Amino acid sequence: MEMKIGCHLSSSGGYLAMGQTAESIGANVFQFFTRNPRGGAAKPIDQDDVARFRKFAAEKSIGPILAHAPYTLNAAGAEARVRDFAFSVMLDDLKRLEFTPGALYNFHPGSHVGQGVEKGIELISGMLNRISETFGSVPSTTVLLETMAGKGSEIGRSFEEIRAIIDATKMPLGVCLDTCHIWDGGYDIVEKLDEVINEFDSVISLERLKAIHLNDSMNDFAAHKDRHEKIGKGRIGLDAFAAIINHPKLRDLPFYLETPCDLQGYKEEIALLKSLRVEK
Ligand code: FE
Ligand code: FE
Ligand code: ZN
Repeated sequence: MEMKIGCHLSSSGGYLAMGQTAESIGANVFQFFTRNPRGGAAKPIDQDDVARFRKFAAEKSIGPILAHAPYTLNAAGAEARVRDFAFSVMLDDLKRLEFTPGALYNFHPGSHVGQGVEKGIELISGMLNRISETFGSVPSTTVLLETMAGKGSEIGRSFEEIRAIIDATKMPLGVCLDTCHIWDGGYDIVEKLDEVINEFDSVISLERLKAIHLNDSMNDFAAHKDRHEKIGKGRIGLDAFAAIINHPKLRDLPFYLETPCDLQGYKEEIALLKSLRVEK
C-alpha cells in the first residue's frame, strides 16, 4: 500500500484548494481546522466546492481527511459556558463533516483545570454522549481523541486516561497518536518503540488507532511541554521517524505533519519521509 502522508493545511480557500495544495506538495492526506483554531463561527459549507473536492479526491486517491477541532474546545472545563461551547462546536463540526463522508475528526480531550482527572473524564464522556443523543444518527465521521503531552491539567497524557474516556463513552471513538505529545508525555518511542506500541495495544487496542501526527519535539523526554519541531531536527530524531513510518503495525495508517513548516518545508519533509519508506 502506498504511504498515506500529508500535513496540516490552511482551510481559508476551501476544500478543493486544500486538495490541490496537497497534491502539489506530494501529499495524499491532509489535516485542517474546522474553523479559526481559537474558536468562533465556521464559514458556511460551499456545496459546489465540496462536490468538486470530492471528485478531485476520488480521482487522486486523496484521503482520509482529518478535521481538527479548535484548541479552545474544552469539554472538561469548570464553567458551563466553556462546556456548552465545546458541545455546540463539536456538534456543528460533525454536522458539517457529513458533507465529506468518511472523514476523521480529532480533538484534544480537554483540561480539567483543577477539578481532577476523574471529574474531567466524566465531563468529556458526558459531552460525547450528549453529542450522540443530539446528532440523531451515527455520524459518518470517526471521532478521535488525541494523545496529549500532559501540559498543565491536560487529560489524555497516558494511554490509561484515553482508555477511561473510551470506556465511559457510548460513541465509538478512535485515537490520533501524536509523536511529539507522547514523547513529551513519557513514552520512549526513540529507544522502545515496540514496547510503546504493545502498551498502546494492551491498554487501548491498536484497532482504535486511526491517525498519527508526525512531529519532532523541542523538548527532552517526558518534559510534559508540547512544542513541535521539524522532522529530524528535534529530540526524537530521524531514525525514530524512519522506524515509525515503516513499523508493521503503523505503516498503513495515515500520517499528518504538524511541524513548524511553510508549504515548501512540508513538501521537503514529505519527500524526506517518502525516501525513508521501505516498500514491501
Ligand atoms: Fe492537536
Ligand atoms: Fe497533534
Ligand atoms: Zn502539540
